[in-house]
Amino acid sequence: MDPEEILFTCQMCNDCCHGENTICLTPADIRRIASGLGLPESEFLERYCVSKGSYVQMKVVDNHCIFWDGKCSIHAFKPGRCREWPFVPSLLDQASFLIIQQNCPGFNKDITFEDALPYVEAVLGGEPAAKE
Ligand code: SF4
Ligand code: SF4
Repeated sequence: MDPEEILFTCQMCNDCCHGENTICLTPADIRRIASGLGLPESEFLERYCVSKGSYVQMKVVDNHCIFWDGKCSIHAFKPGRCREWPFVPSLLDQASFLIIQQNCPGFNKDITFEDALPYVEAVLGGEPAAKE
């Protein structure tokens, strides 16, 4: 069985677009989304983003990402982390793994971190653990 299928089957619930926070944007995300929206980066940042310390996140409106309108309105150029989710490097960290396992309805709830680790490593291609 494919390692990804052992760990995860997306339930299309869109919970990952809801909540008090969104994901952090990389400079490449900011460039791509601003370009996709046809905006200068400065305007994109002002209209759609919020600074959280050293991070930039998309704004939250009514408890969901500002780009959520029943589906992702920037699907074609959405952030890299949204494309990868839930297979982010922090899955290699036990505390983060447990949070993601608990919060993503599509994540296998029966597998322990220790048992999941080889599959996580296989999906991530051996990417080293990193904090978000
Ligand atoms: S950019 Fe799209 S996929 Fe990512 S959190 Fe916002 S609505 Fe969801
Ligand atoms: S929260 Fe998990 S199961 Fe739900 S849409 Fe997002 S990735 Fe899929």
